[in-house]
Amino acid sequence: MVNKKEILNILVKVGAVMEGHFLLTSGMHSDKYIQCAKLMQYPQYTEAFSKAIAQQFDGNKVDIVMGPAIGGIILSYEVARQIGARSIFAERENGKMQLRRGFTIEKGEKILIVEDVVTTGGSVKECLSIAEQQGGIVIGISSIIDRSPSPPSFSSIFKPLIRLNLNIYSPEECPLCKKGVKLQKPGSRKA
Ligand SMILES: [Zn+2]
Repeated sequence: MVNKKEILNILVKVGAVMEGHFLLTSGMHSDKYIQCAKLMQYPQYTEAFSKAIAQQFDGNKVDIVMGPAIGGIILSYEVARQIGARSIFAERENGKMQLRRGFTIEKGEKILIVEDVVTTGGSVKECLSIAEQQGGIVIGISSIIDRSPSPPSFSSIFKPLIRLNLNIYSPEECPLCKKGVKLQKPGSRKA
């Protein structure tokens, strides 16, 4: 199994974790920027990281691996492939996360929720409530990266592969601006 240091090294190598001076969509500045899609370009890494996630839940019966779109789609598929479970994803419609495309959860099915990056935990919480509303039993949650400011409280155990601390500053107080470091705008969403 890959260890935390190897995971971080790979994330940096593929550009999924960048260090520097970044303008976030919130308007705040940060010393790191995370774009996990850059990792998913490489199926061999997605496979290795999914294996590490699956191993954390060894000994648990899992019927469904569920992820929030878009970040959780590829990851839930690969984790499910390795476990031998079904893979489904939830997606936003009119701002609300829901199951579409005929995906269903049977009463009592055991569910593992996976996400590429947990930022606030909001999408994961929405997946949790969908799973529970449908009678599923969430046995755990995982992500490649947890970059939440403080570990989120979920109603099920959360085992991210790594936790990253981002330093986030308002433009007025940003020490990187004061040092004259060039500001980059990586843009993960539509402007
Ligand atoms: Zn700045």
